[in-house]
Amino acid sequence: MHFNIKVLTLILFLFFSKPIFSQVKINNNFRSPIGIPIALSGNFGELRSNHFHTGIDIKTNGTINYKVYSIESGYVSRINISHWGYGKAIYIDHPNGYTSVYAHLDHFPEKIEKIIRKEQYNLKTETLTYYLDSLAIKVEKGEVIAYSGNTGGSSGPHLHFEIRETISEHPVNPQLFNFDISDNKSPVIEKLKLYVFDNKDFSPNFKEKYFNLIRKENQFFLKYDSVISLKKGFFGFGLKAFDNYDNSNNKCGIYSIEMLVDGQLKYELFFDEIDFETNREINIHKDFKAYQNKREKTHKLFIHPKNDLQIYNRELGNGLLCFKDTLQHKIKILVKDLNKNSSELNFYVQNELPKSCDNYLGNSKPFINKFYSLDSQMVITIDSNSLFDNVVIEPVIKETFILLKTKLSQLNLILFWQLN
Ligand SMILES: [Zn+2]
Repeated sequence: MHFNIKVLTLILFLFFSKPIFSQVKINNNFRSPIGIPIALSGNFGELRSNHFHTGIDIKTNGTINYKVYSIESGYVSRINISHWGYGKAIYIDHPNGYTSVYAHLDHFPEKIEKIIRKEQYNLKTETLTYYLDSLAIKVEKGEVIAYSGNTGGSSGPHLHFEIRETISEHPVNPQLFNFDISDNKSPVIEKLKLYVFDNKDFSPNFKEKYFNLIRKENQFFLKYDSVISLKKGFFGFGLKAFDNYDNSNNKCGIYSIEMLVDGQLKYELFFDEIDFETNREINIHKDFKAYQNKREKTHKLFIHPKNDLQIYNRELGNGLLCFKDTLQHKIKILVKDLNKNSSELNFYVQNELPKSCDNYLGNSKPFINKFYSLDSQMVITIDSNSLFDNVVIEPVIKETFILLKTKLSQLNLILFWQLN
């Protein structure tokens, strides 16, 4: 038995604020957290499942127990021992207002291990999050504070390293500091995606299409035609792109994306800072379906009304486009890393027929949280704020459930469903 349920909307409070940094290197005197040249297998802002990566992943030659150094003097403010997530991790607060975080560690020097053992004994637990005051463990710049490892949710030995603004706990892009990370390669733009909407309301019935690209050095073009012909009014773009560093082959994330329409900046994304509170909204920033189905990491170059991530230049609007005329309009998409390398994609868009761009329907439909099956035998309830976007849900009742159906039909309960 199948039935479709359509149109779920939810209302979130939107909070927009201006970014703090944007490509300005931050004055500091940090040293490297490791004694070998920094080679990255992951960088800041990379699209992961359910989060933007909040640090850099430093390669450790496939082994563990490299010495990990405090990047600056300070004190140990937190130690985390866990079987998942950051694994064994240490946080150092520095006098300049930043906290450095070192994760997936193997073990700590005896001076620190002793304090951990005491706390584990006191709490009668192996795993803990231990907050320490500024007098408990002071450290010097360059002091060994740990040994690298592969603990927690790590899929191979490496050092996950973060810098956070101490007061807000917001992770800041470590490449805004003066670490020596060699990168002379410009970002690679792999695919362009076009999303066509019925209206400004980001209706769930949008159409999408991929465009393959060709490359000449750091210039990218559409493979088959330089003009995209448009049948409907409202549209937006998605971009699959990555960046490489000089001393590793891993596909890392890009730093920024800018979209110019007829020479005017219409969208800007950059990874200076991430807020843990909104980090899960990556699922409305990236093309979620493409990620779930093919692990494709596609940045959407338009901002959904329910998206309150602070990684965009919000003054430019939401990135959704619409032209009334049938002229060719030039689109330039610039992709940059933090080492002054950039790539660009140039093409044109053109309406087949003149369009209206004012069919604005509003985006504040009430959130409907009760849905009945076609035979009214079942009701499904969903908490508000459970979903980011309009979505078509197709619950599938499993055989085991059919046997129980009559008994449970009165309950406001969802038992089994699958999202298509
Ligand atoms: Zn990491």
